[in-house]
Amino acid sequence: MAPRTQVKEYLALWFQLGHAAVTNENRRRELCPQPVFQRDDSQHSGYTAEFEQAWSEILNGASEFYLEGAPIAIADLLSNAWDIIPCANCMMPIPTSLVVQGVKPCICEHLSVWPNPDLPKPRLPISDKSYLCNLCERLRTSPSQVSA
Ligand SMILES: [Zn+2]
Repeated sequence: MAPRTQVKEYLALWFQLGHAAVTNENRRRELCPQPVFQRDDSQHSGYTAEFEQAWSEILNGASEFYLEGAPIAIADLLSNAWDIIPCANCMMPIPTSLVVQGVKPCICEHLSVWPNPDLPKPRLPISDKSYLCNLCERLRTSPSQVSA
């Protein structure tokens, strides 16, 4: 099963390559929030409000939304039948299923522009908060008994 955070990262990475989350119902929706990340004053980066908004909208209509070029409903990705693995060709996340047969390979098979070594690789938010917390904790608790 692909955990929710993994599906979120899957969308975040493909949005950076301009692939939208779409529905093909009558009221066709297309969501590709840009930018996906924002940087705060420190070196952290997190998802933008636009992305979080789109993500909650996608979750609400998870059975209708799918990633453009990979017609597997987000709801299915969140089910037990699917997992998300890195593509062997481009390292982007792709859905894989042991249950569903005849799964199409990665979107990159049909992209002439990707993978492109000249383009920056899509990335995930950087948060070193936990690292800093650990560091603070260590400093607070470390006995300053180191003798010179
Ligand atoms: Zn690929």
